[in-house]
Amino acid sequence: MSTYSQRRVSKITVPILTYHNVSERPQGVLHPGLYLHPAQFRRQLAMLRLRGYRGVSIEQALPYLRGEKRDKVAVISFDDGYRDNLQHALPLLREFGFSATCYLVADRIGSYNEWDAELLRVRKPLMTLAEIKSWLAAGMHVGSHTCTHPHLSALAPVQKRGEIINSKARLESLLGIEIRHLCYPYGDYDEDCVVAAKEAGYQTAVTTRRGLARSGSDLLSLPRLGNSGKKPWPIFFARTLAWSN
Ligand SMILES: [Zn+2]
Repeated sequence: MSTYSQRRVSKITVPILTYHNVSERPQGVLHPGLYLHPAQFRRQLAMLRLRGYRGVSIEQALPYLRGEKRDKVAVISFDDGYRDNLQHALPLLREFGFSATCYLVADRIGSYNEWDAELLRVRKPLMTLAEIKSWLAAGMHVGSHTCTHPHLSALAPVQKRGEIINSKARLESLLGIEIRHLCYPYGDYDEDCVVAAKEAGYQTAVTTRRGLARSGSDLLSLPRLGNSGKKPWPIFFARTLAWSN
């Protein structure tokens, strides 16, 4: 095999970064790892650029995940659809000319994190429909994070399918765009979920399984990388050195 063809078939990494809240961390909050201070988020974006990476949405990353194109792209993904993503993350993404995907809980738009507010002892506001439209108008993308953010594997098959299929339909009717990407809440999924995601027509589905997605990875169970504010920035930078293109 020639060097040229070897290069053509070699896999590239397409890191998918996971974020939740981009804001100052409230005092005494449980699970502080869900928060990243805007200044830390900005630093991570700067490091991506320094390493030659472009921050993109999962939709924009599809040709790279499919192995049709190769370039240094890193997917920026936000789970749950918090208002602070619009307030704090969006201006920074725009400053760097990056895009991102925000996974929305279809039946909780404009509400708060009902699924874990009690556990975390904090109510975090989710974007309203108008705010989601502002997010989209700024060149950002969205995907589904199911209807109600359940532990999917604990549900009966019919409910499981409903969460995956109905959230897509609901977001499509609210936003007037095709919803092509899914995020399993808590990274909790099973084979039924993958089948339902495929039937519903999702192009990708992301998990919380820690790892680097590559060209040729199974598109309906993609691993991601967490990026909490608990770790100092040199760790983030060191990680990027393991990415290969
Ligand atoms: Zn979530």
